Order: sequence, then structure tokens, then C-alpha cells
Amino acid sequence: MTDWPAHWRWRVEPGFDRPVAIFDMDGVLSDASHRQQYLREDPPNWEMFNSRAWKDPALDEGLADLRAAAHEHQVVVVTARPVVTIDMTEQWLAERDLPVELLVLRPDGDQRHSPAVKRDELTRLRDAGADVRLAVEDHPGIVQMYEREGVSVRYVASGYYDVGEV
Ligand SMILES: [Mg+2]
Repeated sequence: MTDWPAHWRWRVEPGFDRPVAIFDMDGVLSDASHRQQYLREDPPNWEMFNSRAWKDPALDEGLADLRAAAHEHQVVVVTARPVVTIDMTEQWLAERDLPVELLVLRPDGDQRHSPAVKRDELTRLRDAGADVRLAVEDHPGIVQMYEREGVSVRYVASGYYDVGEV
């Protein structure tokens, strides 16, 4: 496969050669709690929410989990963040020297809820040859989606989804 999607960014030589572990960003690796206030506005202020992501503190447990998973997996970060944040997100990961081989964001113009977006990315990953064995995720609807799709899930309780955010 030579035509990789525009919202995918490889950080190594492209291709799948080991079992894949998918990690979410917000609530798993990065602490987005300081930005959740923008989603409580009416209407939700997605622009402010997304543009502040570079300030997220790291979630140490998630980073340790990712580094451990990388011993036996190819690590792919799949986030519902919009593709406009791809440079910011890549830099955040690079600053923490995380062994992430592929970064997958929400495609440009895709306004759907994140479980639908991530289901399509799972299909795209599998179609491209990825053997997805594990997903680490804090969104209950996405956890359910991965389970339905036959992926083992490690649920992380971020607390973001107790107040009705999507
Ligand atoms: Mg999340």
C-alpha cells in the first residue's frame, strides 16, 4: 500500500509487521481535563478545546502502559482529534519520546461522533494489514465498539464521560 490516508502520519517506515496496540490520546495519554470546560459551553467550543491540546499534562500511567505494550506490539495512536491538530499531537508525543509508530486522527471534515470515526479507522487499519490485538480507551461508546469488533480493550476511567460529553 503506497497511498496512505492524509490523516495518518507514520513516524517510522510505513507498514505493519507486528501485532498492533491502539492507544487513545485524550484521557489515556494526555490529561485534557483543563479543556473540558469548553465542551460545557453552549454550543460546545471545539476550536478552543482542540487548540489547547498542546498544554495537556501527560498521564504517567498511560505512558507507562504504552511503553510496556511497545515491547510486543506496534503502537498506533488513534484519536478523534481533528486532523488540523496533527502537528501539535505529533510534537506532544515526540517531546515525551513515546514509541508511537503511526498517528491516526479524525479525517478532514468528518463531523460524526467519535465511535463511528474510530470504527472506520479500525476497518482502514485492518484493510491495510494491521493485526489489531489491543485498544486502550476511555470513551465508553468506543470501548463497546472495539469489543463488538473483536478487539481486547483496556478501559481507562478518565471521568470525562460522566457529565454527558461525547
Ligand atoms: Mg479519550
